[in-house]
Amino acid sequence: MRVLLIGSGGREHALALGLAADPSVEQLVAAPGNPGIASVAELRAVDAVDPAAVAGLAVEIGADLVVIGPEAPLVAGVADAVRAKGIAVFGPSGAAAQIEGSKAFAKEIMTVAGVPTARAYSCTDPAEVARALDEFGPPYVVKDDGLAAGKGVVVTEDRAHALAHAAQCERVVVEEYLAGPEVSLFVVTDGETALPLLPAQDFKRVGDGDTGPNTGGMGAYAPLPWTSPDLVDDVMARVVEPTLTEMRRRGTPFAGLLYVGLAITSGGPKVIEFNARFGDPETQVVLALLETPLAGLLHAAATGTLAAHPPLDWRPGAGVAVVLASAGYPEAARTGDVITGADRPGIIHAGTARRDSDGALISAGGRVLAGTAVGPDLEVARDAAYALIEGIELAGSHHRRDIALAAIEGRIRPPR
Ligand code: AMP
Repeated sequence: MRVLLIGSGGREHALALGLAADPSVEQLVAAPGNPGIASVAELRAVDAVDPAAVAGLAVEIGADLVVIGPEAPLVAGVADAVRAKGIAVFGPSGAAAQIEGSKAFAKEIMTVAGVPTARAYSCTDPAEVARALDEFGPPYVVKDDGLAAGKGVVVTEDRAHALAHAAQCERVVVEEYLAGPEVSLFVVTDGETALPLLPAQDFKRVGDGDTGPNTGGMGAYAPLPWTSPDLVDDVMARVVEPTLTEMRRRGTPFAGLLYVGLAITSGGPKVIEFNARFGDPETQVVLALLETPLAGLLHAAATGTLAAHPPLDWRPGAGVAVVLASAGYPEAARTGDVITGADRPGIIHAGTARRDSDGALISAGGRVLAGTAVGPDLEVARDAAYALIEGIELAGSHHRRDIALAAIEGRIRPPR
C-alpha cells in the first residue's frame, strides 16, 4: 500500500521506521517529515494543519492510508478531510480529537462514563480558580484547557505560581493531585474494537529525579517491570471501553490512537489525561518492540476491521529512549547548532533540519534527538540508548541521566 505520514517529530520518525519495515508498504511519503525520516520516506512539503492541503496531497499520491502523527492536525479536522476523499486515515475526527483538544471536554466524558480520574473544576475567573485551589490543597494542578504541546500544565506547591499560570490562560482545569507512578498506555482502536500496546513510562520533568519544569518528555522505557499483571486488562475495562462507548453514544466515535495517561494511586489507576495520538517519546520504545507489521495494524483501525486483526506480537526484552535536548530547553530552546554523530541506527530525529548553505545537520527544536535501543532487559537497552546519546555532539545540549534507572533498581512501587 501507499502510505502518507503527516508530521515532523520524533514520534513520526518512529512511525516512519515502523511503516517502512512493513512489507505491505510499497511507498512511504512523509509530509513535512524531517532529516531522519528522509532516510526511509520521500518527503513532501505540506501545511499539516490545513485539511484541504493534506487531503489534496493524499489524493495526488494515491494514498491507501494516511497516518496523522500530531494532535494539531487532528483537532483541525485533517482526518475528516482525508476521509471525505474516501481514503483510509489513522487518526480521529476533529470532534473526537476534542478528547485531547479540551481538558474540560475530556473531564466531561470521563465523568459521564464513570472513568476513574482526578476530581476537577473547569474555571474561567480568578475567584473560581482560588476556590478550587483551596478545596484541593497543595500540590496544586492547573491545566490550560486548550492544546499546549504538553506544556500547559503546572504542578506546584506554590499557590501564587498556580494562580499566575491560571491568569495566563483563558480557561483552566484545576484538579486534585494524583500521587503515584505514571503509566502511558497506547490503545489502537477503530471505535469499537480496541487493542492495547505495551504500557510505557515517560519522564516529563526536565531534570534528574523528576525536578524542574515539565517538558514534552525527556525519555521513556517499556515494558514496566513494576506494574501488576492485570493493569492493562483493568484499564481496558474501567477506562477504555466506557470511554469508547460514551464517544459512540455521542455520535463521535473515537477511532485512531487513544493515549491513556494514568497515575497508579493507592485507589487504583486513575486517568491524568487522554491524548488523541501516539505520545513522544514513548512511541519510540513501544514501536521498537512491536513485531506486528505497523501499516497493517493502523490500516485495520482506519477501516473498522480491527476485530479481524490477529493478536499483536512483541519482541521479548525491553526498550529505552533517551532524549537529547537543546541548550535552554524547555524555557528558551536554542536552535541552529551543528549536530555530529547522529547518523546511526537507533537515533530518532525530533527537532533537526538541514542547513540551507551546506546541508549540515542542525538543531531545529527543543527536543532534538532520541537515542532508542532495545535489548534482552532494561539494563542492556538502557546502556545501549545512553551509548547512542553519548556519541552525539551538539553544543550546549543536555539529557537526563536517570531514564529507566528507578525501574531497574526496583525503586518504583505503586502505593497500596
Ligand atoms: P498532562 O498534560 O495532563 O499530561 O500533564 C502533564 C504532567 O503533569 C503529567 O504527566 C503529570 O506528571 C502531571 N500531572 C497532570 N495532572 C496531574 C494530577 N492530577 N496529579 C499529579 N500530576 C499531574
